[in-house]
Amino acid sequence: MENILNNKISGWKDVNDAKKDDIFKFCNSYIDFLNDCKTERETAKYIVSKLKENGFKNINEIDNLSSGDKVYMLNRDKSVYASIIGKDDLTKGLNIIGSHIDSPRLDLKPNPLYEDAKLALFKTHYYGGIKKYQWTTIPLAIHGVVVKPDGTKVNITIGEEDDDTVFTITDILPHLAEEQYEKKIGKAIEGEDLNLLIGSIPNSENSVKENIMKIINEKYDVTEIDFYSSELEVVPAFKAKNLGLDKSMVAGYGQDDKVCAYTSLKALLDAKENNKTIISIFADKEEIGSVGNTGMCSQMFDLFINELLNKTNQNSPGAINKTYCNSIMLSADVGAGTDPNYQSVSEKNNSSYIGYGVELNKYTGSRGKSGASDANAEFVAKVRNIFEKNNIKYQVSELGKVDLGGGGTIAYILADKGMDVLDCGVPVISMHSPYEVTSKYDIYSAYEGYKAFFEEN
Ligand code: MN
Ligand code: MN
Repeated sequence: MENILNNKISGWKDVNDAKKDDIFKFCNSYIDFLNDCKTERETAKYIVSKLKENGFKNINEIDNLSSGDKVYMLNRDKSVYASIIGKDDLTKGLNIIGSHIDSPRLDLKPNPLYEDAKLALFKTHYYGGIKKYQWTTIPLAIHGVVVKPDGTKVNITIGEEDDDTVFTITDILPHLAEEQYEKKIGKAIEGEDLNLLIGSIPNSENSVKENIMKIINEKYDVTEIDFYSSELEVVPAFKAKNLGLDKSMVAGYGQDDKVCAYTSLKALLDAKENNKTIISIFADKEEIGSVGNTGMCSQMFDLFINELLNKTNQNSPGAINKTYCNSIMLSADVGAGTDPNYQSVSEKNNSSYIGYGVELNKYTGSRGKSGASDANAEFVAKVRNIFEKNNIKYQVSELGKVDLGGGGTIAYILADKGMDVLDCGVPVISMHSPYEVTSKYDIYSAYEGYKAFFEEN
């Protein structure tokens, strides 16, 4: 008899020893990736190196493209588009999966270095939606670049090696926290309190600041004014690890949205040959609204598609619009997993549970679906069909209870171009915190789901 009820069962129940081995091996590599790629620049570099290893070429170095060719475009070292050309005309539609590779963090201000209360510190400006109190009293690392007026680029990473020094943001001792306790949690730590402690030894002139600048200058050959043209990001210094006695979960920084970037990259590299042209997007700036020339709203993606049309001799007026209207896309971004401690923000019939499979969000948005990209039922059915015929476990859910808040992804930007888009990713607990939690089962089912989507004709 057909099962007429939608009984939700943990994905682990169907996992045999061989499959569990596959899942755990896949996630060991994912954990290594998380530890190597904490910023968008590091992730873009990693993605391009994997693409090159697998035969992808820089599209700017190729004049003609035909079926089976693999190309990528690296946009300002921060976002990447990649494609494998299929047999069909591009205007018949593309299979696209788009994730983002930026994560919430603290950026150094343009004038970061100062001395106060006999200590040296860096001023920061937070990037993306963070709960500020989560960033105090944890080990922090600095990753990024300083670019000098002559174009010299200095790469800086401090705090990742076991014997590296680290940084931290201090907090009031409980003994003196009476006033702080009275504040609302969102105000207890202010943005201007997020100052990174970086030194304490004064030089002969009694200046700690100057002593620190001397250390920086000697090591990196940069001066204080060079911070004007720098992008230095403060991220947690601790490593991603297995979580739980059963090692069924991954804890680590930046899983929103590196988990979908990693799984969709692996899916692209492993996808079987297809009639459709397949595209991977790894976008920057999602956490601050997808703006700017490395964000999804920029025209750079249109340029990439136009280059594909040009170099396959398929371009003509309106070809790009026709291509978009016939395309299908998974917006590969994380969802909210139900937190056992804070179940009151989830509506239990429509929330995700970690370990229950890749998550589909028909819509996102807030307050009456405002700002949502609401996938058409026909397209949700198509994706269900792809997943069901490939035995991929999925759950369809919402972020949380109505009117408690909301969120969005890059989905609406591509839907605006005319394609069918559905949000599809891994549920996360403690999203946007320095230590996000995911289930290895969901990570693997995202990989399998993305691969099946790429292989759909
Ligand atoms: Mn995200
Ligand atoms: Mn996010």
